[in-house]
Amino acid sequence: MKLSPNATPLEPADLLIRMHNLVGAAVDVTGRSYGQNSRWTCHGCGYTSGCAVLSLHRGRANEHAAWCRAAYHRLG
Ligand SMILES: [Zn+2]
Repeated sequence: MKLSPNATPLEPADLLIRMHNLVGAAVDVTGRSYGQNSRWTCHGCGYTSGCAVLSLHRGRANEHAAWCRAAYHRLG
């Protein structure tokens, strides 16, 4: 299985949580820890969520990381 080259992308200044998907691509939760001010991005498949509260994204990003097998993307 190919491991992702995106295991350690640059950390954004507002990085709150970094997880890794099944092939090691970073899944970053960014924003602020209060209000509807956080989102998450998968550096494996390129998915980016909308803004919501951190407690919601903590679980959703972790759930995504648990099944996503994408190693890299060249979207946008
Ligand atoms: Zn993904």
